[in-house]
Amino acid sequence: MDLMEFQAKELFAKHDVPVTTGIVATTADEAKAAAEQLGVVVVKAQVKAGGRGKAGGVKLAKTPDEAFEHATNILGMEIKGLTVHRVLIAPAVDIDQEYYFSFLLDRSNRSYLTIASVEGGVEIEEVAKTNPDAVRQVPIDAGTGVDEAKAREIVADAGFPADLTDQAVQTVQALWKVFVEEDATLVEVNPLARLSDGTLEALDGKVSLDENAEFRHDDHAAFEDKEAADPLEAKAKAKGLNYVKLDGAVGIIGNGAGLVMSTLDVVAYAGEKHSGVKPANFLDIGGGASAQVMADGLDVILGDEQVKSVFVNVFGGITSCDAVANGIKGALELLGDDATKPLVVRLDGNNVEEGRAILDELNHPLVTQVDTMDGAADKAAELANDARG
Ligand code: GDP
Ligand code: MN
Repeated sequence: MDLMEFQAKELFAKHDVPVTTGIVATTADEAKAAAEQLGVVVVKAQVKAGGRGKAGGVKLAKTPDEAFEHATNILGMEIKGLTVHRVLIAPAVDIDQEYYFSFLLDRSNRSYLTIASVEGGVEIEEVAKTNPDAVRQVPIDAGTGVDEAKAREIVADAGFPADLTDQAVQTVQALWKVFVEEDATLVEVNPLARLSDGTLEALDGKVSLDENAEFRHDDHAAFEDKEAADPLEAKAKAKGLNYVKLDGAVGIIGNGAGLVMSTLDVVAYAGEKHSGVKPANFLDIGGGASAQVMADGLDVILGDEQVKSVFVNVFGGITSCDAVANGIKGALELLGDDATKPLVVRLDGNNVEEGRAILDELNHPLVTQVDTMDGAADKAAELANDARG
């Protein structure tokens, strides 16, 4: 989960990274009131995208009226396709120098990495292209992490000015605490600024939290962006389903992420012969295929207006095909009249004969069984196309 700047700054403050959290406003009036309290401020669009400054989403306001005016313009603005619903009102500061600093999970090297540059403020990708030596990378041993000695090494390597060394070392250690204690996969500060009074401060923040560690952080749920979440995705999440909404007309349910992904490909391919119908979602029901899980999955998919047919693609393993067939049967009973769209079911694997027999016997008007994955994908695409009219 990616955080917005004001949320990242809350975590920074919690771990003693030098930062001013400011005031969040959702209306121009609130922005004005915040400016009355804080003095000269910067009005900053809160969206999960970089380059807000360049897009006109970061504006200096010398008076409360100016803050009102900037907030009026910025609220509702779109930045990289994201609508701005709130602005951060931050006290304006005099910047001497802008630096870049980040910790990230370096998957390719199975470790952590620091990227630091004394040429921050602009897009670091640009600096990396035009002056690669100015972007320093220091790998971090996952076992030992960042102690004071490591922080000194990082700061020296980046070339922070001597009079900033101690502050920089402390800040790097505090940012490491954010990274480890919050289970982040990215902690980025750009700019980490030297102010005219000689202090170092994080003026922007970007944090990505590891969703696999959510169970350790009840407080992280508050960071979820409710406006941006698709209502179907939110519903699926509440039911503990692994669902991603897509734009097509063929709903997909499968067991196992790999199988579901290949099902998406096969349906997209089959759809080419049926006016280009496409998969409507990703939904992995995992190892469990109880009637309840199947009903929950179908319920989410049938709630998608764009869906015209559903392809249930199951390879029986630990959960055998007869258990899945009973799950489908139970789901149709649970859903009753809410089940309105044709289901194409392909069962294979463990206990396939028993599973197919259960559905044959059920003889439900909405259910069509097809024995092969390609054949079932073709049937589901055909039915979706027919239903679109
Ligand atoms: P981004 O464009 O999305 O990365 O947003 P930032 O928060 O990094 O802001 C963009 C730029 O605005 C920064 O690089 C700073 O130069 C400037 N900026 C942000 N906050 C302040 C501030 O309090 N005072 C001043 N003078 N400039 C600021
Ligand atoms: Mn920035």
